[in-house]
This record gives sequence, C-alpha cells and structure tokens, in this order.
Amino acid sequence: MISVEQALEKILTYVDILEEEEKPILDCLGQVLAEDIYSSIDVPPLDNAAMDGYAVRSRDTRGASRESPRFLPVIGMVAAGSISERELELGTAIRIMTGAPIPKGTDSVVRFEDTDELLRRGSSISQQLPTEIGILCEAEAGLNIRRAGEDITKGSIVLSKGVVIRPSEVGVLASLGHSKVMVIRRPVMAILATGDELVDINQPLPLGKIYNSNTYSVAALVLRYGGIPRILGIALDSEDSLVAKLRQGLDADMLITTGGVSAGDYDVVKDILAKEGEIAFWTVRMKPEKPLAFGTIRGSSKAGIVRNIPHLGLPGNPVSSMVTFELFVRPAILKMMGKKNLAKPTIDAVLEDSVVNSDGRRILARAVVKEHDGKYFARLTGPQGSGILTSMSLANGLVIIPEDKEEVAAGDVVQVMMLDWSEE
Ligand code: AMP
Ligand code: MG
Repeated sequence: MISVEQALEKILTYVDILEEEEKPILDCLGQVLAEDIYSSIDVPPLDNAAMDGYAVRSRDTRGASRESPRFLPVIGMVAAGSISERELELGTAIRIMTGAPIPKGTDSVVRFEDTDELLRRGSSISQQLPTEIGILCEAEAGLNIRRAGEDITKGSIVLSKGVVIRPSEVGVLASLGHSKVMVIRRPVMAILATGDELVDINQPLPLGKIYNSNTYSVAALVLRYGGIPRILGIALDSEDSLVAKLRQGLDADMLITTGGVSAGDYDVVKDILAKEGEIAFWTVRMKPEKPLAFGTIRGSSKAGIVRNIPHLGLPGNPVSSMVTFELFVRPAILKMMGKKNLAKPTIDAVLEDSVVNSDGRRILARAVVKEHDGKYFARLTGPQGSGILTSMSLANGLVIIPEDKEEVAAGDVVQVMMLDWSEE
C-alpha cells in the first residue's frame, strides 16, 4: 500500500505544463497568463477630475468660506470624454464632470458641494452654465485631481507571467486595450465509464441496471477545475468494447476511467490497459476505496505524433471516484494549466462526531462545516458508504483522519479539506 502523498507525487511526474494559446480575454478566466503584460499607455491617460465640480486655480480660492464665498466667472464647461476648448485663465472657473481631463492651468477641482451650485440651481443639475460660481472653501493644489498614470504608468509591467486570470485581471487587461492574451491552454480530459450494469442518462432503466453517474460527476469536476471534458461514454466489461472506446480518446491530455480496477471477475480494465500501455495498480492507504490504476496509454497528438497519455483509473463507486478525483486528478489538471498552488484549501475545525480508524488508512469523511463565533465546526453527513452519492451532495468538506490516529473523539480539532466555499 502506498500513501496518498506517494501516489500524488508519482502522478504529477507524468503530467507537464501545457502549451500556450492566444484567446479573447473573457475566455481566459481561471487560466494562467503566459506572457508579461506591459502597458503602452498611461492609465488614466490624462490628469482628470475625481469629482463633479469646478476646475480652478487654488490660489483664486484663498480666503474662501461659506460665510464669505469667492465668486469666479465661469468661462466654460468640460464633460468626460472631451477636452476643454479653453484654458483656465487667472481668476476664472470651468465647470467639470468626473473623469473629464482638467483644462490647462487648473491645479484643483472644487466639488459642487463646496460651491453655491446647488443654491443657484435648486436640486436639478442642468447643462446650462451659470455666469459665475461662489467657491465656499479654500482648495489646496491637487484637490480632487487624478493624475495621469496614477493607476498604470506607460512602459511598466502590469501583470506578470504566471498570474491566474480573475475578473480583476480581465478588467486590467481591458483598461490597457488588450482584447486577446496568451495563456496556458486547458487540458482535454477524456472520460470513460466502464461496467455492463451502466445505462446512460435519458435512457429507460432496465431491471438490474443503474444509471452512469460517474461520467457526469467527473466531467463536472473537470469543468470546475478548468479542464475540458471529452465524454467517451460507457464501455462494457469486454475487451473489444473497452479498446474501441479508448481509441476515441487518444488525443486527449489525460484519460480518466471509472470502475473496473478492483479484483472482481469482470474487471477487465486492468488487463486491457496493461496491453495498451504501461499500467501500475496501487492500493492507496485511504478510505473510501483503495484501488487506483495509474499509467500511460499509447496515443497520438493532434499532429499525429505518437505519445504516451497519462491514464488514471478511478474506482467505480460514485463517492470514491469523486474523492479520488479531488485528491489526484485536480492537482494534475492544475499542474497542466500552469498553476503553482495545487492544494485544496484546508481548515482546522472542531469535529462534532467521533471517528474510529481501525485499519491504519487515511479516512476522508464527508462533512458539513459551519462557522460559529469565528470557529469552524464539522459534522459528518451520516452513513459513509462509498456508494451513497447523496452524502457528497450534502457535504462541503472532507474531514481528514490521519492514518496513524486510531480514534478521533468529538471535540477534537481535525483538518478539513474544503470542497466548497460556496456563496450560494
Ligand atoms: P467497479 O469498480 O467497477 O467494481 O464498481 C464499483 C461499484 O461502483 C459498483 O457497484 C458499480 O456498479 C458502481 N459503478 C461503477 N461505475 C459506475 C458509474 N459510472 N456510475 C455509477 N456507479 C458506478
Ligand atoms: Mg465494474
């Protein structure tokens, strides 16, 4: 038996960071940037007003107060998106809107609230210019002015290679006028379910059969972590069926099969996989489910080049296939995508149940984690059979009981791998 860490380490040596591709920025969410992004412009491009108000010279406001306003003639107006036709002359003001470039000669913007604008107009802000404006406070130089390049200076590096693209990075790229960007491509993950008992969803369910759920839970996990699922369907527990289905997925970046890896009579997956490539069968010191197949299959790239595709054979039990995916497939996807942090977020929580660990395996128990007064509490979801898929649906985390702990009592602090920090 090998440990979870040993299994993961081995799997990760078989996958590598994928190639780069150029894509529209909105299609890159969650992908890793493959180039340094420099700015060819200042953002904002020009000094501009941070408030609606009046562009003035600060020294023309000296001594101004609510009791004794300084009155300045208004010589023009400038809206966002346009440039003032007039320079600010000594002893004058220009009405200015937020975001508008400040007229030449301006060193300060006095917001409407610090002028008698509202008194003059009541509450309605019309486009009509007053002939003069009363300034009600002294303005220091630089007041309410956003400087050119304050956010980004021309020529500077804005985003570095390796950064994960989130909505803010999409926004930053847009602010520089980039419509496309180089990122590490997403891995294509071929998914094959095996088992004579399986029926695809949207078919009637004959007696003795079950619906194929693994393909869909695994494909959903692939999507969640940024991969592209390629569903190969269901292979029967026969050599011909398995080989025929496998062949359809040989240009993928990784092949995931579910089922057929235990020691049962009909578990032909292991025999075929051994013929079609190189395969190792591992018993991983964990619960749920220990058997895992791992190896490579001879395939070819899109360009027709022969290559070995990493293959992971997950256990057939619906809970086990999801849990082993989280432990072993997720990090492989992230590595292929160029990500550095491969670990799922883990927290400390007070366990509200007791768990007995009789055979020295690492237990990953489905649990609901709740926060109370700044502390986390984990309660098991009930029966932990590895066929009870609804227990995965109830859970938002997996409580980790170390292999060397024979018992964890209620009230003990345990580590929980969070499956979900859902906001919904
Ligand atoms: P196996 O590893 O093939 O022996 O499968 C273990 C258990 O998981 C059996 O009860 C199977 O019926 C079940 N199982 C295998 N594959 C699937 C699947 N794709 N969807 C739902 N259950 C499955
Ligand atoms: Mg089977």
